[in-house]
Amino acid sequence: MNRRQRIGFIGLGAMGLPMAKNLIKNGYILNVSTHRNRTPVDELKELGAVEQNSVSELVSESDIVISILPTDREMESVLLSGEVLDQLTSEKILIEMTSGSPAMMKKVHEIYRGMEVRVLDAPVSGGTAGAEKGTLTVMAGGDAKLVDECKPIMEAMAENIYVVGQIGAGKAIKAINQLLASIHMVASAEALALAEKLEIETDMLKKVVGNSSGASWMLENKIDSLVERNFNPGFKLNLMKKDVQIAVDEAGNDKLPLASYVLDLYKEVANQDGERDFSAIGKKVLV
Ligand code: NDP
Repeated sequence: MNRRQRIGFIGLGAMGLPMAKNLIKNGYILNVSTHRNRTPVDELKELGAVEQNSVSELVSESDIVISILPTDREMESVLLSGEVLDQLTSEKILIEMTSGSPAMMKKVHEIYRGMEVRVLDAPVSGGTAGAEKGTLTVMAGGDAKLVDECKPIMEAMAENIYVVGQIGAGKAIKAINQLLASIHMVASAEALALAEKLEIETDMLKKVVGNSSGASWMLENKIDSLVERNFNPGFKLNLMKKDVQIAVDEAGNDKLPLASYVLDLYKEVANQDGERDFSAIGKKVLV
């Protein structure tokens, strides 16, 4: 794909801002517009991004639109708004990177397909650190030829790009990842709570369990901030709650008893700490 193609980036949050920076670093022309918070737009303009006056102008002035929004609700209200739909033409491509539901992804795709707009379902994993370093994992659902065509763009943000199936499969595998991640986070907090009670040093816990059958990404990567009780996001607890809800909803009632239980924990903690890091779930068990 031509490096000088224009990319319109929607959703300049904890993930979107560093991902957008990497696109500029890799030579892409980046169109942005302000939603509520101007700060990311100003930061990106300093790096060379072009500010458009509205999301409608952003879509009109871009060959490729990338979106990474909080939830299904914003996917629907932005991507299916008249403002956006009126500017779509059959030459444009949407790379949709939100951790949304497979159902919402398919709904967006159906409407875009009707307008001959090509779509990739491409959620990511790797956290804000991965977004900054450009080492994300992309779970791409959609036409394999389109994945190939969009690969250079995704490679500016990601290290691993997996083609996982058709539209909806990206969101599905992301939901499965989040089902595990949400449970592993609670399990890691419980492990730390027990280690603190039994006076086991954290470094020893990380080293020994990290090389044993109880190892997990969460234990390795989140334990230090749990020890410090540092719950600055990162990845907001409200967003993890949304992800577990997607998994539970997709499975159907009572099909995932452990995930359903963990979802209730996230819901409870979200009342106070929804906008803090998802590791704040540790407050349930840490003294
Ligand atoms: P944030 O809450 O940090 O950012 C969301 C962004 O979306 C903000 O820039 C917000 O703008 C913007 N936004 C919200 N509504 C609209 C709208 N109607 N029009 C345009 N922009 C809008 O979320 P994250 O970046 O953390 O997460 C984004 C997605 O990525 C989520 O689905 C999340 O689950 C997923 N994800 C997050 C990871 C993480 O570690 N944070 C890791 C992997 C996936 P404003 O602030 O101006 O309202």
